[in-house]
Amino acid sequence: MNNPQLNHRGELQHLLSIEGLPRDILLQILDIAESFCGVTEREVKKVPLLRGKSVFNLFFEPSTRTRTTFEIAAKRLSADVINLNIAASSQTKGESLLDTVANLSAMQADLFIVRHAQSGAPYLIARHVKPHEHVINAGDGRHAHPTKGLLDLYTIRHYKKEFTRLTVAVVGDILHSRVARSLIHGLTTLGAPEVRVIGPQTLIPAQVGALGVRVFHDMRAGLAGCDVVVMLRLQSERMRGALLPSAQEFNKHYGLSSEKLSLAKPDAIVMHPGPINRGVEIDSSVADGPHSVILPQVTFGIAVRMAVMSIIAGN
Ligand code: ASP
Repeated sequence: MNNPQLNHRGELQHLLSIEGLPRDILLQILDIAESFCGVTEREVKKVPLLRGKSVFNLFFEPSTRTRTTFEIAAKRLSADVINLNIAASSQTKGESLLDTVANLSAMQADLFIVRHAQSGAPYLIARHVKPHEHVINAGDGRHAHPTKGLLDLYTIRHYKKEFTRLTVAVVGDILHSRVARSLIHGLTTLGAPEVRVIGPQTLIPAQVGALGVRVFHDMRAGLAGCDVVVMLRLQSERMRGALLPSAQEFNKHYGLSSEKLSLAKPDAIVMHPGPINRGVEIDSSVADGPHSVILPQVTFGIAVRMAVMSIIAGN
């Protein structure tokens, strides 16, 4: 099958989705990220791998962690980083996405980091860029967020060492979550034997079973014996109609409290892609507690994004 992310030698040309990426490439990214973790702990946190390359951050949707950590990662690889101020850009003057990209390409871009509310937008750009240009999907609609999925995989491997004996639960708004989809594809490719999704019927897509996960609507039953618990934010900006009675009601049934977490394994880790909504999907006692690895996830994200950019721009 033709995979738009790979070149004719089977190497990564663009990173658009974890779905369809071979296991070897996922492991290559995680291994290289591990070596970059060493770089980020040095006093001089720079390597010259992308010296002379221009990285354009094209964020058509708000972002704090992803945009900033891509910028830090590119700078640590010695690239020049250009952050587009989209609110003040030509898009508001009616220019099409492809015309904007063509103009940036005329400024000798090498790498486009794209976030867009429309699922598939980074694919459209990848189909139109020049052969030496690369596209990384930094989150498209509810479809995919591959570097986020990769940093989640990195975090899980860091704390749990391997995937083949793990039970992982992803909890909350699965329906609108590009993070959940990317992580589930990564976990199944790397051999996690049990991936569970937990949430109310209205927030779990009907076809989710096809991804190879077990569905739970009772959070206590779903958390029993888990090694890893991944909490998700309610993506209210993507919700149409009333899918939930209220945030308080959601918290009662699906919010992670210390009491509910005690049903998971004693050494379970708790993850969250951020931004967290305290008192909705996660209580402060858990977010700030000993099982939480939410802030290390952010730090690992820099090394993972360095790895992806260096592999892609090195091809
Ligand atoms: N930051 C993640 C994303 O962009 C998760 C979230 O927004 O809840 O998808």
